[in-house]
Amino acid sequence: MSQEEEYFKKIEAEQKAKLKADQDASAAAQAEIALKELHFHKCGKCGHDMNTEVYRGVEIEVCTKCQAVLLDPGELNTLAGDDNSAWISSFFSVFGGGYKTPDDDT
Ligand SMILES: [Zn+2]
Repeated sequence: MSQEEEYFKKIEAEQKAKLKADQDASAAAQAEIALKELHFHKCGKCGHDMNTEVYRGVEIEVCTKCQAVLLDPGELNTLAGDDNSAWISSFFSVFGGGYKTPDDDT
């Protein structure tokens, strides 16, 4: 095989790899959309529909079947108020100690 042929073969392989990567990314994006459509406003515990209700001025999703509650990012902090030293920090410490005091780094 000539050098020129090898060069074009290499280019072709790179283009194929790029095309494949683009297709994979597109498929992943479509799968994500399908997943969202399938589960949007559905309870994560029992699969029934969620109802939007206002609780203490915050819009929360409540399951129509099992009453499980779904909060958007930040809503837990809003509902808990400024007092993040009490129950909320103990809540997060259950999940791997996300809240650290400055003394923990020494
Ligand atoms: Zn439910």
